Amino acid sequence: MPPLRVTVWHEYRHELKHEDVRKIYPEGMHVVIAAAIKEHLGDDVIIRTATLDQPHHGITAEILEETDVMTWWGHMAHAEVAEIVADMVHRRVLEGMGILFLHSAHYSKPFRKLMGTGCGLKWRDAGELERIYIVDPSHPISDGLPAHFDIPHEEMYGEFFDIPTPDELVMISWFEGGNVFRSCCTWKRGKGKVAYFRPGHEVFPSYYHPEVRRVIANAVRWAAPVTNFAFALGAPNETRSLSPINTTYVINEELHKPTK
Ligand code: ZN
Repeated sequence: MPPLRVTVWHEYRHELKHEDVRKIYPEGMHVVIAAAIKEHLGDDVIIRTATLDQPHHGITAEILEETDVMTWWGHMAHAEVAEIVADMVHRRVLEGMGILFLHSAHYSKPFRKLMGTGCGLKWRDAGELERIYIVDPSHPISDGLPAHFDIPHEEMYGEFFDIPTPDELVMISWFEGGNVFRSCCTWKRGKGKVAYFRPGHEVFPSYYHPEVRRVIANAVRWAAPVTNFAFALGAPNETRSLSPINTTYVINEELHKPTK
């Protein structure tokens, strides 16, 4: 198997602007997320990083073509992501690229396009305890994890989380302040696999947390594309049938022409 080609995308603004975030992620959160993936997947992955302020946000058609799985972290600058880039990412997922949305990426343009819902949630920045429970122990994203694990300090995200009902609900969170949240969910969109994983508020060292790192690596591996058959977006008219069709039906071509 050739190595999985991963692109870790990061907004990369908080670290440059805020000393307290820079102290936790001196080289940027994307470097730590990339290291977490490498730590678990080793030579099975080749990782590149891309950030908002690079030309084209570090995402070109060529880079997308060479990406099997992308991870996305954004928070304060979702609106600055060019529509054309968000559309390219969206389309590439439909064509088969896997994607893992982290923390505030619930409000990113690619996530909202893929979900089609408002994607809002409740939140509270009180540095409270988050306890994450595995609710799908057979899921590949749960591999190697305990039944539950704690993150001592996190931002709270609470229900209602305005997402389409997930295809698979892998983890739920309980917070010290009493809220609960669907914190690890998956969907399939076109030929692509989509995962969301909640932790990662920038003022807490959540991406150094061993279980969080394991979830991220597991999700990247889970989201790897399959290569079972060529899949192209669109709705082609398959005029040649696979077996003979015995009918006297006469096509009214007028019905298939676009109306003005
Ligand atoms: Zn946050």
